[in-house]
Amino acid sequence: MDNSGKVLSGLIGGISSGGIKVVDLSHPLGPDTPMIKVPEGHGKQPPQVSLEYISNYTDDGGFSRWSKLVTAEHAGTHFDTPSHWYTGADLENADTESISVERYVAPACVIDCTAEVEADEDFILTEQYLLDWEQEHGEIPVGSWLLLRSGWGKRVGDADSFLNQDENGTAHSPGPNPEAVRHLIKRDACGYGTETIGTDHGNAGMFDPVFPAHYLMHEANKFGMSSLNNLDQLPPTGTVIVTPPLKITKGSGSPIRVLAMVPGE
Ligand code: MN
Repeated sequence: MDNSGKVLSGLIGGISSGGIKVVDLSHPLGPDTPMIKVPEGHGKQPPQVSLEYISNYTDDGGFSRWSKLVTAEHAGTHFDTPSHWYTGADLENADTESISVERYVAPACVIDCTAEVEADEDFILTEQYLLDWEQEHGEIPVGSWLLLRSGWGKRVGDADSFLNQDENGTAHSPGPNPEAVRHLIKRDACGYGTETIGTDHGNAGMFDPVFPAHYLMHEANKFGMSSLNNLDQLPPTGTVIVTPPLKITKGSGSPIRVLAMVPGE
C-alpha cells in the first residue's frame, strides 16, 4: 500500500484550509483577446475570438443563455501540443485528443525576468541565464515546466502593446534562443510557458532554427503555453500546474484554463 489516498485527502484539505493556494494563470477569452499576427509568408491570419448569443434567456422563448464561440485553437491563454509544429507532426500521442492525461499535471519552475524585460523588450533568455538560475534554485527537474515571468501579461488590455510590433512587422517581446530551448530539452522539461502572445521570441524568425520554442520543443515532444497570467503569484519552485487543453479531435492546441497550486504563506 502506498499513501496516495492520504496525499489526495491532504490536497483537498490543503486547498480548503488555504494552506494550498490555487492561482488562475489564464486571461479571459473573448472578443478583446489579442490575436497573434502570423508573419508574412507563414500562412493565413487567425480570426478574432467572437461570442454570439444563440439564446439570451428571452430570445425565441428560451430559458437559457448560451453562445456560439468562434476561436482559433491558438487564442488567448492557450496550449501548444507537439503536433502544432511540422517538426512534431509524426510523433505518436501528440495532439489534444491523444496526449496522455498524466502529462497535464506537472511541477513548474518560474524564472523572473521582469526587470530585464522592463529594461529591454527584446530580452533573450539564454542558456547561461538558465544555468545561473539553476545555481540558485537547483536544476530544473525532469518533467517540469519552465515558465518565463516577464510582466508582459499586464499589457493584455492593449493589443498593440501586447503584440508590440514595429513598422516592419517585427515583434519586440522576450523569449528563449535555441540554446536555452536545447537546455530545457536536455533537462527533459515538460514544456515552456510565457506571458507573451506566443512561446517564441518576437524576433525568433531570425534565429537558427527559426522559432526554436516551436521547432525544437515540439520536435522533442514538449509542450508550450502562452499568454499566461499571474505568474507574479508563483514562487520560483514548488508549484504544481494543471494544464488540460480541450479534447479537440486531433487538435493542435486549445484555449486553456491553467490552474497553479502553490504552498500558502
Ligand atoms: Mn500557440
